[in-house]
Amino acid sequence: MIREKGILIVISGFSGAGKGTLVKKMLRTYDNYALSISMTTRQPREGERDGVEYFFTDKEQFEENIGRDGFIEYACYCGNYYGTPKAYVEEQLEAGKDVILEIEIQGALKVKEKFPESLLLFVTPPSAEELQRRLVGRGTETPEVIAKRLARASEESEGIEAYDYIVVNDDLDVCVAELHAIVDAARRAPVRREQFIKEIREELKGFAKGAE
Ligand code: 5GP
Repeated sequence: MIREKGILIVISGFSGAGKGTLVKKMLRTYDNYALSISMTTRQPREGERDGVEYFFTDKEQFEENIGRDGFIEYACYCGNYYGTPKAYVEEQLEAGKDVILEIEIQGALKVKEKFPESLLLFVTPPSAEELQRRLVGRGTETPEVIAKRLARASEESEGIEAYDYIVVNDDLDVCVAELHAIVDAARRAPVRREQFIKEIREELKGFAKGAE
């Protein structure tokens, strides 16, 4: 069996779209995924642990890491830095894992520019009303922050066309299955089967020579 590198998967979506829950379920259900843990300068929410949900850090350390070229991408979102540390992602892709980056749109666009073979998925709730309901229901943000995040969602909706697929998160299990099916299909695209194509070409050349 020819081993290809893993797929770099970007999952974005409005804050409150349920990305976190979806990604956790994908990791639990299938064994081909690895999740990149981002670094952020945002304060931890209650129950969030350093090194699990995020690597929590301060502005100085974050900027030092930018200087060391330690990020695949980074962005500023609602006043805080968020970035994808490079080393883990590269390691996991080499090991054949499909690596999930759960990041916002500016970062997603940077990833696509650097890695054109990456797969960009956008997750959305069925409606704007449902999004607001989920953000309020989560109870982790103040009304002011919720308003900021909804305004940001409106801006982000302008960029959806940059993604390869849009998936509606109405029923969690259905959405997880859809995301997995998309990744599975994407694996069959020639840009992601470079090794296979190279090897079969070599072999065919060998046969062609034999027939001369
Ligand atoms: P939250 O504060 O709700 O955890 O995340 C806010 C936004 O930042 C979400 O849209 C999330 O996907 C995004 N985000 C998390 N980590 C990263 C990262 O490493 N890079 C970028 N560009 N966005 C991130």
